[in-house]
Amino acid sequence: MSARILDGTKIASEIRAEVAAEVKSMSAEGLRPGLAVVLAGHNPASEIYVRGKVKACEEVGVYSEKHTPPQTATTDELLALVEDLNRRDEIDGILVQLPLPSPVDSKKVLLAVDPAKDVDGFHPMNVGSLSTQRPGLVPCTPAGVMEILKRSGIEVAGQDAVVVGRSDIVGKPVAMLLTNANATVTICHSKTHDLPGVCRHADILVAAIGRAGMITHDYVKPGATVIDVGMNKVTDAAEFQRLFAGNARREETFRSKGSTLAGDVHPEVANVAGAITPVPGGVGPLTIAMLMFNTVKAAKMRRGTRELSRA
Ligand code: NDP
Repeated sequence: MSARILDGTKIASEIRAEVAAEVKSMSAEGLRPGLAVVLAGHNPASEIYVRGKVKACEEVGVYSEKHTPPQTATTDELLALVEDLNRRDEIDGILVQLPLPSPVDSKKVLLAVDPAKDVDGFHPMNVGSLSTQRPGLVPCTPAGVMEILKRSGIEVAGQDAVVVGRSDIVGKPVAMLLTNANATVTICHSKTHDLPGVCRHADILVAAIGRAGMITHDYVKPGATVIDVGMNKVTDAAEFQRLFAGNARREETFRSKGSTLAGDVHPEVANVAGAITPVPGGVGPLTIAMLMFNTVKAAKMRRGTRELSRA
């Protein structure tokens, strides 16, 4: 049996189309949402992510601006920039791309972002709102996981969910969202005893670990829904063989690029699971779509207009 593939690219484009329609009607009322992205220093991966975010803004019609303080920027300079963005009315969302240059106090800078403009949902105020089920901004990747489940018609209420990973940006907020949606949730991490045994109880298994192909078939209950948040660059030939031997398309990519993108879930799990997100093309595309959603949501909440119906 082969699992149903949950197509994140398709779901993300549906969300982007809905957001674009909202932006159009808001812009017609003179309320075009705006996002400011802060990209400090030079980090090639961050530059690629930020390019994707700015491009998404253009596609859905959100106003965007990019601020690029130098590698030598100090904590005080970044705080001054964030304060200025907090004050500007046409800016609804502020995204500080991590990591910041090493001497900078990242926590202090993130804490300075106005919670009403915190489109990453990392501010303790928004974390508190999520855990107490108050309106607020929800971190993008976890919100994307919930959209995949909802839009794929997968029942969450009453189900046993296991989340592997407890980071502040993925594992914990996913677990909180699943709890709020009435799943019975177990959070696992590197100190969990008998991880495969715990995972085998899951009707919904979310992997947010950062280890290529760690979740093998013996972690998965037959028929379970498996959501793979992991994004791991595989460059080692033996590792590649363990994951993708016999996959002609992957072998071609690996030969030409010297690397391939793998999730935390081993491809063999598709033979056991009932539904599964692919990597690439699963959770990844949802992250930017939900950033666009959050920017519009922030604009509506801050400007006191009606809130979007979802998330
Ligand atoms: P972190 O490194 O912050 O957290 C990893 C978590 O996995 C930790 O809680 C850690 O446990 C746990 N873990 C690590 N090794 C094991 C193990 N052997 N057994 C059980 N648990 C383990 O990672 P992130 O949460 O930031 O990211 C997780 C993955 O998701 C990464 O691959 C990342 O690239 C990807 N990601 C994808 C996004 C997307 O848009 N699709 C967005 C963000 C992240 P402990 O706490 O005990 O150390």
